[in-house]
Amino acid sequence: MYVILMGAQGSGKGTQAALIGPKLNLVKVATGDLFRAATEQKSELGLQVQAILESGNLVPDELTNAIVQVRLAQIAAAKAKGEDVAGALFDGFPRTEPQAQALDEILANQGESLTAVVEIDVPREKLVARLAGRRVCESCGTVYHVEADPPAVPGICNKCGGKLLQRKDDTPEAITRRLELYDDLTRPLLAYYAEQGVLERVDGDQDIQKVEQDLLDAIRSRAESMKA
Ligand code: AMP
Repeated sequence: MYVILMGAQGSGKGTQAALIGPKLNLVKVATGDLFRAATEQKSELGLQVQAILESGNLVPDELTNAIVQVRLAQIAAAKAKGEDVAGALFDGFPRTEPQAQALDEILANQGESLTAVVEIDVPREKLVARLAGRRVCESCGTVYHVEADPPAVPGICNKCGGKLLQRKDDTPEAITRRLELYDDLTRPLLAYYAEQGVLERVDGDQDIQKVEQDLLDAIRSRAESMKA
């Protein structure tokens, strides 16, 4: 099973991927997380992409496709070994048409195809407020919002006591740039997937549990209709 969560920055893709991935036995493939981990480790890739991430621009397609290809090969190997892995859940990938085409090709080469692409739809004015108030635990990655979902002690993670930080690309300038790129390059992919007949849409402006349930229902019903 291969599922893409689509939606603008701040629509809740990361939060939902963390919730539904384990329930469907899907390994999360979040390119933003992979790039951020590389910058923290100061690996060659990390040094190459750090300035791009901070500005809110996109990492070149070839580099992005290459890291996804490696992750998918690892997932295919785990499946082949009989591990309890049903496939992948993409968060933040693909973001451009060449990336979408590369993903189709990689999956076809493995004899696989997309099960579902689900758009999490949230009104634009809410996205900006969500991003500007977002805080992330530097140790365990748990996401908070200063007003909508504050930690018990300001600046401290409820789960692990880690320090809460604002992402470097959650500044007003980078937020504007990232939403512009979403409209120009990523939103058109919705038509690409609608044409393939795999697109579903979920209202992301509801409480987290309701969005999660709607996502699970949409993905399970697509998986059932593929079996039929
Ligand atoms: P995210 O956590 O998904 O918001 O991604 C953070 C940043 O990582 C983005 O603003 C881009 O600079 C980079 N990035 C993540 N995924 C991609 C992708 N699919 N293509 C290009 N750049 C990406």
